[in-house]
Amino acid sequence: SHTLSMIPGPIEIHDSVAQAMASPSVPHVAGPFVKVFSETLKMVRQVLDNAPGKGQPLILSGGGTVGWDVVAANLIQPSEKVLVLNIGYFSDGFADCLAAYGASVDHVRFELGVAPDVDRSLEALKASEYRAVIITHVDTSTGVLSPLKDLALAIRKASPNTLIVVDGVCSVAVEEIRFDAWDLDVVLTASQKGLGAPAGLSVIQLSDRAIAAFENRTAPVHAYYVSLAKWLPVMRSNEDGKPMYFSTQAVQNILALHASMKLILDQGIDKTFAAHIAGSNKAKAAVAKLGLKQIPAKAEDQAHGLTTIYLPNGLTGPDIIPKLAGKGVFLAGGLIKGIAANYIRLGHMGVSVSRYSYQLDTALKALEETLGESGQSSTSA
Ligand code: PMP
Repeated sequence: SHTLSMIPGPIEIHDSVAQAMASPSVPHVAGPFVKVFSETLKMVRQVLDNAPGKGQPLILSGGGTVGWDVVAANLIQPSEKVLVLNIGYFSDGFADCLAAYGASVDHVRFELGVAPDVDRSLEALKASEYRAVIITHVDTSTGVLSPLKDLALAIRKASPNTLIVVDGVCSVAVEEIRFDAWDLDVVLTASQKGLGAPAGLSVIQLSDRAIAAFENRTAPVHAYYVSLAKWLPVMRSNEDGKPMYFSTQAVQNILALHASMKLILDQGIDKTFAAHIAGSNKAKAAVAKLGLKQIPAKAEDQAHGLTTIYLPNGLTGPDIIPKLAGKGVFLAGGLIKGIAANYIRLGHMGVSVSRYSYQLDTALKALEETLGESGQSSTSA
């Protein structure tokens, strides 16, 4: 029994996923991998509620950040305008990436712990012709959840041609996402969070509108590895069961992602969302019982895959994170400048809330004990 990874990713993995990761190497363009890769791409569509033949899923080596590069390099031309609904650290990171490729980035900055509201977002959208709006579905630094459905439907109505780009790194397979019904253009994520696989893969779903934006661009793409000119034909062909090579796939990682998405889809995506709501409710109730506050104050602004916890009595993350590890659970420190030491982050995604829910219980018990030993008198009976 290992120290549980109860951080907001890389999360705990199921035994079948660990076994897939330990598979012998296989050719990336022949043999059994061809079928697995095709199925894995199709499963991405299912997880995101995207119909076959609409748009294109991509799976690239790398992290969630690679998805930012794909968007910034291919979908936005230099000096085109992008609006970022900024809720924290990862919204800032996406904006930096866009700027690095020459986009002209505007921000609507929401207060710490507060989700974007539709009215302010629409007001900001009026300022310019925006090529894209960036929505960080869940900002992993603060645990804030954006109201994606409401934002997406309102933005589409107000500005039909603006691409709706969702950073779903901390939300895919955790929070409800309906790619087609909500008319989204990009959802990007990584393998190590809700998808429940080891770190190493960038998973991106594009709409036909996003693909058209790429195909109709006039400026050259200043990128090579993340160029959609390279990857779209490769992903289309592989999804069709016809191997095609651009750069060698991380075959074991894809076998592992296939295994983890199979678990999710066998359970059913709606049941998966429900398991995260139940796990989140449990974590948040335990934190409240300890008399502790989260960064998002309002329940509707709180993500379901992690809980941010302000520490009491001058305790800091660097004080208590090693003590928690001593009790068998890794939790993560804060990321927001100025308050990073004052809060910790508890992840509760994937198997830790579905198949192995004792893992969340173990983390909550360790938290209660550690705070008790550190002089925090629990308000629990
Ligand atoms: N966006 C969000 C919301 C994230 O939480 C993260 C990573 N935690 C990233 C992007 C970047 O992903 P990666 O570290 O896999 O590159």
